Amino acid sequence: MKVDRRFKIGAHMPVSKGFYKVPYETKEIGGNSFQIFNHSPRTWKCSWPNDKEITKFKNSMRDCQINFDNAFVHSGYLVNLASPKDDVWEKSIRLLIEEIKTCELLGLKYLNIHPGSHLGEGEEYGLKRIITALNRVFKVVENSDVIILLENVSPKGGNIGYKFEHLGYIMSEFKGKVAITYDTCHGFDAGYDITTHLGMKKLIEEIEQTVRIENIKMIHLNDSKYPLASAKDRHENIGKGYIGINGFRNFLSFEEFQNIPLILETPGSNLEHAEDIRILQTEILNKI
Ligand code: ZN
Ligand code: MN
Ligand code: MN
Repeated sequence: MKVDRRFKIGAHMPVSKGFYKVPYETKEIGGNSFQIFNHSPRTWKCSWPNDKEITKFKNSMRDCQINFDNAFVHSGYLVNLASPKDDVWEKSIRLLIEEIKTCELLGLKYLNIHPGSHLGEGEEYGLKRIITALNRVFKVVENSDVIILLENVSPKGGNIGYKFEHLGYIMSEFKGKVAITYDTCHGFDAGYDITTHLGMKKLIEEIEQTVRIENIKMIHLNDSKYPLASAKDRHENIGKGYIGINGFRNFLSFEEFQNIPLILETPGSNLEHAEDIRILQTEILNKI
């Protein structure tokens, strides 16, 4: 499928065949942006890419004309900067530092994280814990150009960051480089109704009062398997869920969001994502 240069579109891509494959596969599915894990997301350590792998990756980025500004890394699943368990918290800090260093090696500048879960200790505790952790990370990688993206999450399991107030608070207290990812499924889970004009007005107003629109560097474009405010965190393919084609048309008709990379984390892999991109292009972006 032809890549539409007006928009930045892509998906979460597998890295199993090597980092250098990602730009080529991104082009194959009709994208010009992507997100990856930079190590196995279920482990506590990074496997450093060697010089050869790094060169191959940078060459393929150039070959495929993918801008490093439109390439994102998602942190591993185990990281929990709000954890009340000291061992998990310490390991999370260490792993995040390794992930940042891996980003640097690959020339990638955005690392997306979930703020963390307080696991029952309360939101105030969780927020403080996250800020302490991030400031400790920043002390070690102070000179890094990598920007941490705080993702809004679903309001479940003691999660911090389901509302912009949380993200804004972390942004104001963290001394390092930080910006925001907006996930449409998680936002819908938390009651942000992007399917209506009024809902969008309220969303934009809340963003402006907290994190500011210009700090949103990535959209996780996911439909939702469950209705508004369900707090389920079940992503659905574009148009097949409760946000739906019309909901995404409404969301993307606001020009505030049109220049931000739209990254799919919908069910399936490259094949399904190619279909999601086709629907996004033909049914949504061409009709706004
Ligand atoms: Zn995420
Ligand atoms: Mn997401
Ligand atoms: Mn999710």
